[in-house]
Amino acid sequence: MDLQTLALHTGYEKDSQGTMVVPIYQTTAYEFRDVEHAANLFALKELGNIYTRLNNPTTDVFEKRFAELEGGEAAIATSSGMSAIFFAIANSAEAGDNIICAKQLYGGTLTQTAHTLKRFGIEARFFDVHKPEDIESLVDDKTKVIFFESLTNPSIDVADIEAIVKVANRYNILTVVDNTVATPVLCRPMEFGVDITVHSASKYTTGQGLAIGGILVERKGLKDKLLNNPRYVHFNEPDESYHGLVYTDLDLPPFTLRARLSLLRDFGCVVSPFNSWLFIQGIETFALRMKEHSKNALALAEFLESHPKVKKVNYPGLKSNANYKNAQKYFENGACSGLLSFEVDTLEEATKIVNATKLYSLVVNIGDSKSIITHPASTTHQQLNEEELKACGVPSGLIRISCGLESSKDLIADMKQALEA
Ligand SMILES: *Cc1c(COP(=O)(O)O)cnc(C)c1O
Repeated sequence: MDLQTLALHTGYEKDSQGTMVVPIYQTTAYEFRDVEHAANLFALKELGNIYTRLNNPTTDVFEKRFAELEGGEAAIATSSGMSAIFFAIANSAEAGDNIICAKQLYGGTLTQTAHTLKRFGIEARFFDVHKPEDIESLVDDKTKVIFFESLTNPSIDVADIEAIVKVANRYNILTVVDNTVATPVLCRPMEFGVDITVHSASKYTTGQGLAIGGILVERKGLKDKLLNNPRYVHFNEPDESYHGLVYTDLDLPPFTLRARLSLLRDFGCVVSPFNSWLFIQGIETFALRMKEHSKNALALAEFLESHPKVKKVNYPGLKSNANYKNAQKYFENGACSGLLSFEVDTLEEATKIVNATKLYSLVVNIGDSKSIITHPASTTHQQLNEEELKACGVPSGLIRISCGLESSKDLIADMKQALEA
């Protein structure tokens, strides 16, 4: 079935009331039939609801539906995109191990990997996402994850997914892709061999800036890669915290199973049933929205490229863009989502433009139905000096746009008056 159809139906069996909308199961716990039933659930002899920190029927629909859209086997929802990323890494690596990350990363992912996880004994090594050939020299026996974004935020680069997966598979290392900006509508990394994807559901999944959440998806057949793989002994040896359970012994997707039984149990970064419900509503229009976001962004990018005040436009859908080829290969119909950036001469000029727009809200978010404008040099990258800004690809005249669902005619007209104000 097509993604648009799956987005409306997968994972939900109507209850006895025939409820058309997936109900919000707003509950902390669930009654067991009897002691034996309870014991069976805890021993995984029978699968079912125990406690909402571990599972919830509303969240279950969100997970099943999202896994299907992504072409994966199973998914686990979390309280935020950042906790989904943490789960992907913490489920693979422990103190003394290392991970290899693209340096073009979301700010929070950069601080989590480079600084916070370091204090837990996990070292992050970085490569340029456009140089997969540099990964090999960073790999050793303790490398557990190769992590990158399919469409990077905020630098707007497109990864050569197959080239990176090829290096990872040579060493039997797990690949994790943050697919937040591309979304399963435009890009399905598992079709190119990626093992795990993570998403911030707070962006295009909710689609209207309604709630914070995250989700991690495991590809079909990942068990074969984990089974007896010396890098991942914790999937092949008894887990003492779960009375000797060996995750690869069961006929269940092992990565999400361990993330649930161990990480969700012990760290508790669980999504609320109400937020899962909001994500389910967002998913119903996911495919329609991503087409419009992409169309609007391309129209705005083309306008900006033709404007004399604009030095450079970064949008992978433009033929002039260095990422154009990868975008054509990896994205559905070459549609490139709603994120673009452009450069004007000076900080002063950028400030003037941002202040003069009326339709674009000055917000540090992306993936909202309302268009968003940000000036990284004065906000997210404020602590850096002119030299440092240049080095990380954020010139002081750079403006980032998350194109919303307004009419592209109005978006272009407002940008034009701001540029010429
Ligand atoms: C926003 C974002 C995150 C973090 O997600 P939260 O839901 O805000 O925790 C991670 N990766 C990317 C690419 C993002 O845009």
